[in-house]
Amino acid sequence: MGVIRKTRSIDLILREFKSDKIAISVSDLVTRLDSKLNKTTIYRVLERLEEDGLLHSFLRQSGNSCYAMCSNSTKSKHADKHPHFECVDCGKIDCLKLEVKIPEISNRKISSSQILIQGKCEQCIDPK
Ligand SMILES: [Zn+2]
Ligand SMILES: [Zn+2]
Repeated sequence: MGVIRKTRSIDLILREFKSDKIAISVSDLVTRLDSKLNKTTIYRVLERLEEDGLLHSFLRQSGNSCYAMCSNSTKSKHADKHPHFECVDCGKIDCLKLEVKIPEISNRKISSSQILIQGKCEQCIDPK
């Protein structure tokens, strides 16, 4: 029984990411799925999907965590080194298809890094 419920919540959450193809903040996700899933379930599923390598998370400028689909990572080789772009006008965040080389730093062991680039997105530069 628990398995079925879990699968359904995973489905509902993944659907949000597939339809948008951009990053979604946790608070937005909670609002969108308010009628279907409770907050605790959403948090738990997001964590699990990140462990499974389907989603990755990062922080936006305001400090809220965001999640986005991982394009080509597998569980064993999950390296998230692409920067994210946050539009200062509309707040849209997406994954940039660029690889950033994180330098080796002596006497430091890097466990994660994140690069957030801010500016205006395509639509905000040139509104149609
Ligand atoms: Zn924008
Ligand atoms: Zn990303």
